[in-house]
Amino acid sequence: MAKKSQGTGLQCAMCGVFDSDANPVVEIMPGLALCSDCVSYIETTAQAELAQRNKSGKPKAKRGNSIPKPKEIKEFLDQYIIGQDEAKKYMSVAVYNHYKRIQRLDEGKQDAEDVDIEKSNVILVGPTGTGKTLLAKTIAKLLDVPFTIVDATVLTEAGYVGEDIESLLTRLLQACDYDVAKAERGIVFIDEIDKIARKSDNPSITRDVSGEGVQQGLLKLLEGSTVLVPPNGGRKHPEQKMIPVDTKNILFVCGGAFDGIERKIANRLNTHTVGYGQNSGDAKKKRENLMRYVMPQDLKSFGLIPEIIGRLPVLTALDPLDRGALRRILVEPKNAIIRQYKKLFEMDGVELEFTDEALDTIVDKAIEYKLGARGLRSIVETVMVDAMYEVPSSKTKKFEVTAQYVIDKLAQNPGLNQAD
Ligand code: ADP
Repeated sequence: MAKKSQGTGLQCAMCGVFDSDANPVVEIMPGLALCSDCVSYIETTAQAELAQRNKSGKPKAKRGNSIPKPKEIKEFLDQYIIGQDEAKKYMSVAVYNHYKRIQRLDEGKQDAEDVDIEKSNVILVGPTGTGKTLLAKTIAKLLDVPFTIVDATVLTEAGYVGEDIESLLTRLLQACDYDVAKAERGIVFIDEIDKIARKSDNPSITRDVSGEGVQQGLLKLLEGSTVLVPPNGGRKHPEQKMIPVDTKNILFVCGGAFDGIERKIANRLNTHTVGYGQNSGDAKKKRENLMRYVMPQDLKSFGLIPEIIGRLPVLTALDPLDRGALRRILVEPKNAIIRQYKKLFEMDGVELEFTDEALDTIVDKAIEYKLGARGLRSIVETVMVDAMYEVPSSKTKKFEVTAQYVIDKLAQNPGLNQAD
Protein backbone atom coordinates (compact mmCIF):
# COMPACT_ATOMS: atom_id res chain seq x y z
CA MET A 1 0.00 0.00 0.00
CA ALA A 2 1.21 3.52 -0.77
CA LYS A 3 0.93 5.30 2.56
CA LYS A 4 1.20 9.03 3.13
CA SER A 5 3.42 10.03 6.02
CA GLN A 6 2.48 13.08 8.09
CA GLY A 7 2.63 15.55 5.26
CA THR A 8 6.14 14.48 4.21
CA GLY A 9 5.15 12.48 1.11
CA LEU A 10 5.05 8.85 0.06
CA GLN A 11 6.44 5.85 1.87
CA CYS A 12 8.15 2.92 0.10
CA ALA A 13 6.01 -0.23 0.34
CA MET A 14 9.13 -2.40 0.40
CA CYS A 15 11.58 -0.81 2.84
CA GLY A 16 9.34 1.75 4.53
CA VAL A 17 11.57 4.76 3.79
CA PHE A 18 9.88 8.15 3.23
CA ASP A 19 10.26 10.22 0.12
CA SER A 20 13.38 12.39 0.06
CA ASP A 21 15.56 14.10 -2.50
CA ALA A 22 18.29 11.55 -1.92
CA ASN A 23 15.94 8.59 -2.37
CA PRO A 24 12.69 9.62 -4.06
CA VAL A 25 9.61 7.46 -3.57
CA VAL A 26 7.36 7.18 -6.62
CA GLU A 27 3.86 5.76 -6.90
CA ILE A 28 4.49 3.27 -9.72
CA MET A 29 0.89 2.09 -9.81
CA PRO A 30 -2.21 2.95 -7.81
CA GLY A 31 -1.59 1.80 -4.27
CA LEU A 32 2.06 0.85 -4.78
CA ALA A 33 4.90 3.26 -4.11
CA LEU A 34 8.57 2.27 -4.20
CA CYS A 35 11.75 4.13 -3.43
CA SER A 36 14.48 4.49 -5.99
CA ASP A 37 16.85 2.16 -4.05
CA CYS A 38 14.28 -0.65 -3.97
CA VAL A 39 13.50 -0.22 -7.66
CA SER A 40 17.17 -0.65 -8.58
CA TYR A 41 17.43 -3.61 -6.18
CA ILE A 42 14.51 -5.32 -7.95
CA GLU A 43 16.05 -4.54 -11.31
CA THR A 44 19.46 -6.03 -10.42
CA THR A 45 17.92 -9.14 -8.87
CA ALA A 46 15.71 -9.72 -11.89
CA GLN A 47 18.66 -9.31 -14.24
CA ALA A 48 20.79 -11.73 -12.23
CA GLU A 49 17.98 -14.28 -12.27
CA LEU A 50 17.59 -13.86 -16.02
CA ALA A 51 21.32 -14.31 -16.58
CA GLN A 52 21.23 -17.43 -14.40
CA ARG A 53 18.35 -18.88 -16.39
CA ASN A 54 20.09 -18.20 -19.69
CA LYS A 55 23.18 -19.91 -18.32
CA SER A 56 21.27 -23.14 -17.67
CA GLY A 57 22.50 -24.30 -21.06
CA LYS A 58 19.12 -25.39 -22.37
CA PRO A 59 18.89 -25.06 -26.11
CA LYS A 60 16.30 -22.39 -26.62
CA ALA A 61 12.94 -23.71 -27.72
CA LYS A 62 11.50 -20.52 -29.14
CA ARG A 63 7.98 -20.33 -30.37
CA GLY A 64 7.11 -21.29 -33.91
CA ASN A 65 9.48 -23.36 -35.97
CA SER A 66 12.14 -23.57 -33.33
CA ILE A 67 12.30 -27.06 -31.96
CA PRO A 68 15.78 -27.71 -30.54
CA LYS A 69 17.69 -29.55 -33.28
CA PRO A 70 19.06 -33.05 -32.62
CA LYS A 71 22.61 -31.67 -32.37
CA GLU A 72 21.49 -29.10 -29.82
CA ILE A 73 19.67 -31.76 -27.82
CA LYS A 74 22.82 -33.90 -27.85
CA GLU A 75 24.95 -30.95 -26.74
CA PHE A 76 22.60 -30.48 -23.81
CA LEU A 77 22.86 -34.19 -22.92
CA ASP A 78 26.68 -33.94 -23.18
CA GLN A 79 26.70 -31.55 -20.25
CA TYR A 80 25.33 -34.23 -17.94
CA ILE A 81 26.16 -37.63 -19.43
CA ILE A 82 29.65 -38.96 -20.07
CA GLY A 83 30.19 -41.06 -23.19
CA GLN A 84 27.22 -43.01 -24.57
CA ASP A 85 27.38 -41.01 -27.79
CA GLU A 86 25.40 -43.51 -29.80
CA ALA A 87 22.52 -43.63 -27.32
CA LYS A 88 22.53 -39.84 -26.98
CA LYS A 89 22.34 -39.48 -30.74
CA TYR A 90 19.41 -41.88 -31.06
CA MET A 91 17.56 -40.24 -28.18
CA SER A 92 18.14 -36.77 -29.62
CA VAL A 93 16.65 -37.79 -32.94
CA ALA A 94 13.71 -39.57 -31.31
CA VAL A 95 12.91 -36.58 -29.13
CA TYR A 96 13.31 -34.14 -32.01
CA ASN A 97 10.90 -36.17 -34.13
CA HIS A 98 8.50 -36.35 -31.21
CA TYR A 99 8.51 -32.55 -31.02
CA LYS A 100 7.93 -32.32 -34.76
CA ARG A 101 4.95 -34.67 -34.70
CA ILE A 102 3.44 -32.64 -31.89
CA GLN A 103 4.06 -29.42 -33.75
CA ARG A 104 2.17 -30.80 -36.75
CA LEU A 105 -0.70 -31.77 -34.49
CA ASP A 106 -0.75 -28.26 -33.06
CA GLU A 107 -0.82 -26.82 -36.54
CA GLY A 108 -3.66 -29.18 -37.46
CA LYS A 109 -1.65 -30.60 -40.37
CA GLN A 110 -2.92 -34.12 -40.13
CA ASP A 111 -5.58 -34.32 -42.76
CA ALA A 112 -6.44 -37.44 -44.72
CA GLU A 113 -3.97 -36.91 -47.58
CA ASP A 114 -1.15 -35.74 -45.40
CA VAL A 115 1.71 -38.08 -44.50
CA ASP A 116 1.07 -39.50 -41.07
CA ILE A 117 4.40 -39.47 -39.22
CA GLU A 118 4.41 -42.46 -36.93
CA LYS A 119 6.16 -42.21 -33.62
CA SER A 120 9.34 -44.18 -33.02
CA ASN A 121 9.42 -45.56 -29.51
CA VAL A 122 12.92 -46.24 -28.18
CA ILE A 123 14.56 -49.16 -26.38
CA LEU A 124 17.84 -48.63 -24.52
CA VAL A 125 19.86 -51.74 -23.71
CA GLY A 126 22.85 -51.59 -21.39
CA PRO A 127 24.29 -52.77 -18.10
CA THR A 128 22.85 -51.32 -14.93
CA GLY A 129 24.31 -47.99 -13.81
CA THR A 130 25.47 -46.87 -17.24
CA GLY A 131 23.13 -43.92 -17.58
CA LYS A 132 19.84 -45.15 -19.07
CA THR A 133 17.69 -43.48 -16.44
CA LEU A 134 20.00 -40.48 -16.37
CA LEU A 135 19.50 -40.11 -20.11
CA ALA A 136 15.73 -40.16 -19.68
CA LYS A 137 15.85 -37.76 -16.72
CA THR A 138 18.09 -35.33 -18.55
CA ILE A 139 15.74 -35.35 -21.52
CA ALA A 140 12.97 -34.52 -19.04
CA LYS A 141 14.89 -31.45 -17.89
CA LEU A 142 14.96 -30.20 -21.42
CA LEU A 143 11.40 -30.88 -22.40
CA ASP A 144 8.26 -28.98 -21.90
CA VAL A 145 6.09 -32.07 -22.28
CA PRO A 146 4.97 -34.19 -19.32
CA PHE A 147 7.42 -36.93 -18.52
CA THR A 148 7.45 -39.84 -16.11
CA ILE A 149 9.61 -42.83 -15.21
CA VAL A 150 7.84 -46.09 -14.36
CA ASP A 151 9.12 -49.49 -13.38
CA ALA A 152 7.93 -52.44 -15.46
CA THR A 153 8.40 -54.83 -12.54
CA VAL A 154 5.38 -53.48 -10.66
CA LEU A 155 3.09 -54.36 -13.54
CA THR A 156 1.15 -57.58 -13.69
CA GLU A 157 -1.57 -58.76 -15.96
CA ALA A 158 -5.14 -58.42 -14.73
CA GLY A 159 -6.01 -60.93 -12.05
CA TYR A 160 -2.60 -60.99 -10.36
CA VAL A 161 -1.35 -59.02 -7.39
CA GLY A 162 0.33 -55.86 -8.66
CA GLU A 163 -0.58 -52.86 -10.72
CA ASP A 164 -2.68 -52.77 -13.87
CA ILE A 165 -0.69 -51.96 -16.96
CA GLU A 166 -2.78 -48.85 -17.55
CA SER A 167 -1.50 -47.47 -14.24
CA LEU A 168 1.70 -46.62 -16.17
CA LEU A 169 -0.19 -43.63 -17.41
CA THR A 170 -1.43 -42.56 -13.98
CA ARG A 171 1.99 -41.10 -13.22
CA LEU A 172 1.99 -39.25 -16.52
CA LEU A 173 -1.42 -37.77 -15.73
CA GLN A 174 -0.18 -36.77 -12.30
CA ALA A 175 2.87 -35.12 -13.88
CA CYS A 176 0.59 -32.67 -15.68
CA ASP A 177 -2.14 -32.23 -13.09
CA TYR A 178 -4.51 -34.57 -14.91
CA ASP A 179 -4.49 -32.44 -18.07
CA VAL A 180 -5.35 -35.30 -20.43
CA ALA A 181 -4.53 -33.38 -23.64
CA LYS A 182 -1.04 -32.65 -22.31
CA ALA A 183 -0.50 -36.22 -21.10
CA GLU A 184 -1.46 -37.50 -24.53
CA ARG A 185 1.73 -35.98 -25.95
CA GLY A 186 4.06 -36.82 -23.10
CA ILE A 187 7.00 -39.18 -22.77
CA VAL A 188 7.03 -42.30 -20.58
CA PHE A 189 10.27 -44.03 -19.59
CA ILE A 190 9.63 -47.69 -18.77
CA ASP A 191 12.54 -49.02 -16.75
CA GLU A 192 13.47 -52.71 -16.36
CA ILE A 193 11.60 -53.78 -19.46
CA ASP A 194 13.81 -56.89 -19.52
CA LYS A 195 12.16 -58.12 -16.32
CA ILE A 196 8.92 -58.81 -18.16
CA ALA A 197 10.61 -61.11 -20.66
CA ARG A 198 8.94 -64.47 -21.26
CA LYS A 199 9.90 -66.91 -18.57
CA SER A 200 10.61 -69.82 -20.87
CA ASP A 201 13.26 -67.82 -22.70
CA ASN A 202 14.75 -66.29 -19.63
CA PRO A 203 15.50 -68.71 -16.83
CA SER A 204 16.76 -65.91 -14.56
CA ILE A 205 13.27 -64.50 -14.07
CA THR A 206 11.92 -65.30 -10.64
CA ARG A 207 8.53 -63.69 -10.76
CA ASP A 208 5.59 -66.03 -10.72
CA VAL A 209 3.59 -64.08 -13.27
CA SER A 210 3.74 -64.69 -16.96
CA GLY A 211 5.77 -61.90 -18.52
CA GLU A 212 4.03 -62.53 -21.79
CA GLY A 213 0.65 -61.40 -20.43
CA VAL A 214 2.21 -58.13 -19.27
CA GLN A 215 3.89 -57.67 -22.64
CA GLN A 216 0.54 -58.17 -24.41
CA GLY A 217 -1.00 -55.52 -22.17
CA LEU A 218 1.88 -53.17 -22.80
CA LEU A 219 1.57 -53.68 -26.53
CA LYS A 220 -1.81 -52.00 -26.46
CA LEU A 221 -0.26 -48.86 -25.00
CA LEU A 222 2.75 -48.85 -27.32
CA GLU A 223 0.59 -49.32 -30.42
CA GLY A 224 -1.59 -46.39 -29.60
CA SER A 225 -5.13 -46.86 -28.40
CA THR A 226 -7.52 -45.30 -25.99
CA VAL A 227 -7.09 -46.87 -22.59
CA LEU A 228 -8.91 -46.31 -19.34
CA VAL A 229 -6.52 -45.13 -16.67
CA PRO A 230 -7.17 -45.45 -12.93
CA PRO A 231 -6.68 -41.88 -11.65
CA ASN A 232 -4.86 -43.03 -8.53
CA GLY A 233 -2.95 -45.95 -9.99
CA GLY A 234 -2.92 -49.49 -8.63
CA ARG A 235 -5.81 -51.77 -9.53
CA LYS A 236 -8.91 -50.70 -11.34
CA HIS A 237 -12.05 -51.21 -9.35
CA PRO A 238 -15.66 -50.80 -10.41
CA GLU A 239 -16.57 -47.73 -8.37
CA GLN A 240 -13.54 -45.80 -9.57
CA LYS A 241 -14.09 -43.31 -12.39
CA MET A 242 -11.58 -44.05 -15.15
CA ILE A 243 -9.88 -41.44 -17.32
CA PRO A 244 -9.70 -42.28 -21.04
CA VAL A 245 -6.23 -41.52 -22.47
CA ASP A 246 -5.22 -41.91 -26.12
CA THR A 247 -1.64 -43.21 -26.30
CA LYS A 248 -1.20 -42.62 -30.03
CA ASN A 249 1.14 -39.66 -29.53
CA ILE A 250 2.82 -40.65 -26.30
CA LEU A 251 6.51 -41.46 -26.81
CA PHE A 252 7.63 -44.57 -24.94
CA VAL A 253 11.29 -45.05 -24.06
CA CYS A 254 12.13 -48.44 -22.57
CA GLY A 255 15.31 -49.36 -20.73
CA GLY A 256 16.73 -52.64 -19.53
CA ALA A 257 20.00 -54.31 -18.52
CA PHE A 258 19.14 -57.53 -20.38
CA ASP A 259 21.65 -59.49 -18.30
CA GLY A 260 23.05 -62.34 -20.34
CA ILE A 261 21.97 -60.99 -23.72
CA GLU A 262 25.66 -60.94 -24.75
CA ARG A 263 25.47 -64.72 -25.02
CA LYS A 264 22.60 -64.49 -27.50
CA ILE A 265 24.49 -61.83 -29.47
CA ALA A 266 27.66 -63.94 -29.45
CA ASN A 267 25.75 -66.97 -30.69
CA ARG A 268 24.27 -65.01 -33.51
CA LEU A 269 27.55 -63.33 -34.45
CA ASN A 270 29.43 -66.63 -34.44
CA THR A 271 27.03 -68.20 -36.86
CA HIS A 272 27.52 -65.24 -39.14
CA THR A 273 31.26 -64.84 -38.85
CA VAL A 274 32.20 -68.44 -39.59
CA GLY A 275 34.48 -68.49 -42.59
CA TYR A 276 35.91 -65.02 -42.05
CA GLY A 277 39.56 -64.50 -41.11
CA GLN A 278 39.77 -65.24 -37.38
CA ASN A 279 41.63 -62.29 -36.01
CA SER A 280 41.84 -63.00 -32.29
CA GLY A 281 42.16 -59.29 -31.39
CA ASP A 282 38.91 -58.57 -33.17
CA ALA A 283 37.20 -61.48 -31.51
CA LYS A 284 38.26 -60.21 -28.09
CA LYS A 285 37.06 -56.69 -28.83
CA LYS A 286 33.73 -58.04 -29.93
CA ARG A 287 33.37 -60.07 -26.75
CA GLU A 288 34.09 -57.01 -24.63
CA ASN A 289 31.61 -54.82 -26.35
CA LEU A 290 29.04 -57.25 -27.62
CA MET A 291 26.14 -55.15 -26.43
CA ARG A 292 26.93 -52.72 -29.27
CA TYR A 293 25.90 -55.35 -31.77
CA VAL A 294 22.45 -55.88 -30.28
CA MET A 295 19.74 -56.51 -32.87
CA PRO A 296 15.97 -56.95 -32.53
CA GLN A 297 16.32 -60.75 -32.89
CA ASP A 298 18.48 -60.82 -29.73
CA LEU A 299 15.65 -59.19 -27.80
CA LYS A 300 13.38 -61.90 -29.15
CA SER A 301 15.75 -64.66 -28.02
CA PHE A 302 15.83 -62.94 -24.64
CA GLY A 303 12.06 -63.27 -24.33
CA LEU A 304 10.42 -60.13 -25.64
CA ILE A 305 7.52 -60.89 -27.96
CA PRO A 306 8.03 -59.86 -31.61
CA GLU A 307 5.02 -57.51 -31.51
CA ILE A 308 6.60 -55.50 -28.68
CA ILE A 309 9.95 -55.40 -30.48
CA GLY A 310 8.18 -54.17 -33.60
CA ARG A 311 6.72 -51.29 -31.59
CA LEU A 312 10.16 -50.25 -30.32
CA PRO A 313 11.88 -49.55 -33.63
CA VAL A 314 14.74 -47.45 -32.24
CA LEU A 315 17.13 -49.88 -30.55
CA THR A 316 20.39 -48.62 -29.10
CA ALA A 317 22.96 -49.88 -26.60
CA LEU A 318 24.82 -48.16 -23.80
CA ASP A 319 28.47 -49.01 -23.24
CA PRO A 320 29.76 -50.42 -19.97
CA LEU A 321 31.62 -47.69 -18.07
CA ASP A 322 35.37 -48.19 -17.89
CA ARG A 323 37.81 -46.63 -15.43
CA GLY A 324 38.28 -43.53 -17.61
CA ALA A 325 34.52 -42.94 -17.86
CA LEU A 326 34.05 -43.34 -14.11
CA ARG A 327 36.85 -40.86 -13.46
CA ARG A 328 35.21 -38.34 -15.80
CA ILE A 329 31.77 -38.92 -14.22
CA LEU A 330 33.21 -37.85 -10.86
CA VAL A 331 34.24 -34.40 -12.05
CA GLU A 332 32.98 -33.48 -15.50
CA PRO A 333 29.16 -33.42 -15.69
CA LYS A 334 27.49 -30.14 -14.85
CA ASN A 335 26.21 -31.64 -11.61
CA ALA A 336 29.17 -33.97 -11.02
CA ILE A 337 29.41 -35.41 -7.51
CA ILE A 338 32.70 -33.65 -6.73
CA ARG A 339 31.30 -30.31 -7.90
CA GLN A 340 28.29 -30.79 -5.64
CA TYR A 341 30.53 -31.36 -2.60
CA LYS A 342 32.71 -28.38 -3.47
CA LYS A 343 29.58 -26.25 -3.59
CA LEU A 344 28.38 -27.55 -0.24
CA PHE A 345 31.71 -26.65 1.38
CA GLU A 346 31.88 -23.32 -0.41
CA MET A 347 28.59 -22.39 1.24
CA ASP A 348 30.42 -22.71 4.58
CA GLY A 349 33.29 -20.61 3.22
CA VAL A 350 35.57 -23.65 2.88
CA GLU A 351 37.58 -24.52 -0.20
CA LEU A 352 37.40 -28.26 -0.84
CA GLU A 353 40.08 -29.98 -2.93
CA PHE A 354 40.50 -33.58 -4.02
CA THR A 355 43.97 -34.65 -5.16
CA ASP A 356 44.18 -36.57 -8.44
CA GLU A 357 45.27 -39.63 -6.49
CA ALA A 358 42.23 -39.31 -4.22
CA LEU A 359 39.93 -39.33 -7.26
CA ASP A 360 41.78 -42.34 -8.72
CA THR A 361 41.38 -44.17 -5.42
CA ILE A 362 37.62 -43.46 -5.37
CA VAL A 363 37.34 -44.90 -8.89
CA ASP A 364 39.46 -47.93 -7.94
CA LYS A 365 37.17 -48.60 -4.98
CA ALA A 366 34.03 -48.28 -7.13
CA ILE A 367 35.49 -50.89 -9.48
CA GLU A 368 36.70 -53.11 -6.64
CA TYR A 369 33.29 -53.06 -4.95
CA LYS A 370 31.64 -53.67 -8.35
CA LEU A 371 29.42 -50.66 -7.75
CA GLY A 372 30.05 -48.88 -11.06
CA ALA A 373 28.86 -45.31 -11.47
CA ARG A 374 26.05 -45.96 -9.05
CA GLY A 375 28.61 -46.50 -6.30
CA LEU A 376 30.65 -43.36 -6.81
CA ARG A 377 28.19 -41.32 -4.80
CA SER A 378 27.99 -43.75 -1.88
CA ILE A 379 31.78 -43.94 -1.73
CA VAL A 380 32.21 -40.14 -1.76
CA GLU A 381 29.40 -39.84 0.79
CA THR A 382 31.17 -42.28 3.12
CA VAL A 383 34.53 -40.56 2.65
CA MET A 384 33.11 -37.10 3.30
CA VAL A 385 30.69 -37.64 6.17
CA ASP A 386 33.20 -36.87 8.95
CA ALA A 387 34.47 -33.76 7.22
CA MET A 388 30.90 -32.61 6.59
CA TYR A 389 30.23 -33.05 10.30
CA GLU A 390 33.38 -31.37 11.65
CA VAL A 391 34.33 -28.64 9.18
CA PRO A 392 31.32 -26.27 9.54
CA SER A 393 32.06 -25.76 13.25
CA SER A 394 35.82 -25.38 12.78
CA LYS A 395 37.92 -22.48 11.56
CA THR A 396 39.17 -24.46 8.56
CA LYS A 397 39.17 -22.49 5.32
CA LYS A 398 40.61 -25.20 3.11
CA PHE A 399 40.09 -28.96 3.20
CA GLU A 400 42.10 -31.36 1.07
CA VAL A 401 41.07 -34.95 0.44
CA THR A 402 44.05 -37.19 -0.27
CA ALA A 403 44.23 -40.82 -1.37
CA GLN A 404 45.24 -41.83 2.15
CA TYR A 405 42.23 -39.97 3.58
CA VAL A 406 39.94 -41.89 1.20
CA ILE A 407 41.52 -45.23 2.16
CA ASP A 408 41.29 -44.45 5.90
CA LYS A 409 37.67 -43.34 5.77
CA LEU A 410 36.61 -46.37 3.73
CA ALA A 411 38.48 -48.66 6.10
CA GLN A 412 36.40 -47.19 8.95
CA ASN A 413 33.22 -48.10 7.04
CA PRO A 414 33.68 -51.68 5.93
CA GLY A 415 29.94 -52.06 5.27
CA LEU A 416 30.08 -50.19 1.99
CA ASN A 417 31.49 -52.99 -0.12
CA GLN A 418 28.46 -55.06 0.67
CA ALA A 419 26.18 -52.40 -0.78
CA ASP A 420 24.08 -52.71 -3.96
P1 ADP B 1 20.78 -47.19 -15.27
O1 ADP B 1 19.44 -46.59 -15.47
O2 ADP B 1 21.51 -47.45 -16.56
O3 ADP B 1 20.78 -48.41 -14.38
P2 ADP B 1 21.42 -44.71 -13.98
O4 ADP B 1 21.16 -43.79 -15.10
O5 ADP B 1 20.38 -44.79 -12.91
O6 ADP B 1 21.72 -46.16 -14.51
O7 ADP B 1 22.84 -44.35 -13.35
C1 ADP B 1 23.09 -44.34 -11.96
C2 ADP B 1 23.92 -43.12 -11.58
O8 ADP B 1 25.24 -43.27 -12.12
C3 ADP B 1 23.40 -41.82 -12.18
O9 ADP B 1 22.61 -41.13 -11.27
C4 ADP B 1 24.65 -41.03 -12.47
O10 ADP B 1 25.04 -40.28 -11.35
C5 ADP B 1 25.70 -42.05 -12.72
N1 ADP B 1 25.93 -42.29 -14.15
C6 ADP B 1 25.70 -43.46 -14.80
N2 ADP B 1 26.08 -43.38 -16.08
C7 ADP B 1 26.55 -42.13 -16.27
C8 ADP B 1 27.10 -41.42 -17.40
N3 ADP B 1 27.23 -42.02 -18.59
N4 ADP B 1 27.48 -40.14 -17.22
C9 ADP B 1 27.35 -39.52 -16.03
N5 ADP B 1 26.86 -40.13 -14.92
C10 ADP B 1 26.46 -41.42 -15.02
